[in-house]
Amino acid sequence: MAEPRVEVRRSRRRRRTVSAYREGDTVVVLIPARMTRAEEEHWVAEMLRRLDRSESRRRSPARTSDAALLLRCRELSGRYLDGRAVPLGVRWVPPMRTRWASCTPSERTIRVSDRLREVPAWVLDYVLVHELTHLLVPGHGPDFWELVRRYPRAERAIGFLEGLSAAAGWNIGADPEDADGVRDEVAENGEAACDD
Ligand SMILES: [Zn+2]
Repeated sequence: MAEPRVEVRRSRRRRRTVSAYREGDTVVVLIPARMTRAEEEHWVAEMLRRLDRSESRRRSPARTSDAALLLRCRELSGRYLDGRAVPLGVRWVPPMRTRWASCTPSERTIRVSDRLREVPAWVLDYVLVHELTHLLVPGHGPDFWELVRRYPRAERAIGFLEGLSAAAGWNIGADPEDADGVRDEVAENGEAACDD
């Protein structure tokens, strides 16, 4: 991730405590007035690291219901796909053996494995962007990935999911022919559906 802009505020009332929070695009770091430059440098780096760590663990509000999931899909479509991907239905489904999610473009529906309820918000967002993109592009060709990679943390999320699958002993994403763990299957009606 790009380094955020940092604003350091020195407070006479602070003796030892340091804190940090986001204010728009800026991270504000509050430090005691008497800290040295070296201490300031150390604590700014440390607080940025902590902030990043807690944010990258935070789970998505979309985990709570199908309605919240659909809402998140709309936000992501607007932000990364020019609002062109419009799903009709998005729902949580019981864990699937070999998939994280699936999309049926003809019905414009997306199903998401319950296993993703516990992953960090940015990982779930990647899966949703991936499935939303299938509403526009069925396969996994270059034009598909060009759209998916508009989501800046796509590569990191793919790595996260591979690691999760391996650690849990799930057979998701283990298909050697498909490094990102996605499979295309031909549905009964002869249409290509994506199972990820
Ligand atoms: Zn896919």
